[in-house]
Amino acid sequence: MRVMAQIAMVMNLDKCIGCHTCSVTCKQTWTNRSGTEYMWFNNVETRPGGGYPKGWEDQDRWHGGWKRKANGKLVPRSGGRLQVLSHIFANPRLPEIEEYYEPWTYEYDKLLSAPKDSKHFPVARPISQITGEPIDKVSWGPNWDDDLGGGEQVLKDDPILDNISTKVKAEIEQSFMFYLPRICEHCLNPTCMAACPSGAIYKRTEDGIVLVDQDRCKGWRMCVSACPYKKVYFNHQTGKAEKCTLCYPRLEVGEPTICSETCVGRLRYLGVMLYDADRVVDAAAVEDPQDLYEAQLDILLDPRDPEVVAAAEASGISAEWITAAQESPVLALIKDYRLALPLHPEYRTMPMVWYVPPLSPVVDAVTAAGADAEDHRILLTTLSKMRIPLDYLAELLTAGDTKPVELALRRLAAMRSYMRNINLGMEPNTE
Ligand code: SF4
Ligand code: SF4
Repeated sequence: MRVMAQIAMVMNLDKCIGCHTCSVTCKQTWTNRSGTEYMWFNNVETRPGGGYPKGWEDQDRWHGGWKRKANGKLVPRSGGRLQVLSHIFANPRLPEIEEYYEPWTYEYDKLLSAPKDSKHFPVARPISQITGEPIDKVSWGPNWDDDLGGGEQVLKDDPILDNISTKVKAEIEQSFMFYLPRICEHCLNPTCMAACPSGAIYKRTEDGIVLVDQDRCKGWRMCVSACPYKKVYFNHQTGKAEKCTLCYPRLEVGEPTICSETCVGRLRYLGVMLYDADRVVDAAAVEDPQDLYEAQLDILLDPRDPEVVAAAEASGISAEWITAAQESPVLALIKDYRLALPLHPEYRTMPMVWYVPPLSPVVDAVTAAGADAEDHRILLTTLSKMRIPLDYLAELLTAGDTKPVELALRRLAAMRSYMRNINLGMEPNTE
């Protein structure tokens, strides 16, 4: 067993309020330079929604490794291997600037010189930061679906709520949304690295952070095509690829990433995981996409196991890192409690930013009658009627397998009910 260490992150989606503080502080730290205006190493998207760049999950659209069959299942295009290598001399379609968004500023001179008695606040046309020309129509952005979620189409159909039909009203009642903050996954099996013809992308042996060597990068952009999460960006000023660095200069001096430190919801957990590097490739190649979550869980090792400790020491992992792995909150959330799940494990890159799925109230007659929608006994018996459908979360986190999502939600519901009783001074409910 060859043990390696990986810094991993877990985000608890129950707690994200979509304030974008993480995105803004990340941008101020890393992408406030020329050529990086459109880049958001950290972005927060509203789900359901098109995401950033637009449609990034549609692997068919990007000519990536997966296509969706008529029955809805994602299947590999070519013998289970991602198709990036066969496209090495013909870069598959790259997202265009409109699919991220064309960053703009305003004609402030016109804004500020408007007459004092202007009835309305003056409106200036946005000016492209890329061309310097006015932009006629802004048609996409890092969180274009902000707060609309599943209700977007409905509201578009008829924005005048008084006039809408009962059917549409019912649809609005069934609509749902939540926020999904995203950074680079610092994958165990990174396709960006595999696809780079210059060998410029590398995964640090000490902590698994995936970085782009700016001196070696030749601007091929194969990494942009190859990353199924679309988390590498091209700097059109320098001609080099750039991506999230997991704030390694901060981690190296014992500080958390800037997104974790400034997160208003305190929902980002950082920690060390140990994994068996010899089994990554086999685990990534298991046939059924729904087995990938378990396969990845299996190669993430338990650092309290004496055999793992011995193997880690033999692999050169320091005692300090082994202790950090043993005490890691990420280990507890991922392995002990199975509350956190990987984002799109079917992409087979073995992502290392995992998510606790969001609990949501049940939409049911029982709640209309005045019952407590967050009482765990109601949640546990009516999970299928949760506002955010189990199927939707499973599609996001477990390649469509609802069982691990249901297990995580049941545990969250039970814990919430238990803690509420304690906080209300009642007997904790241990049913
Ligand atoms: Fe590379 Fe994309 Fe994985 Fe990040 S998320 S390591 S950019 S493949
Ligand atoms: Fe969500 Fe935290 Fe980012 Fe705010 S700062 S959007 S709560 S992840």
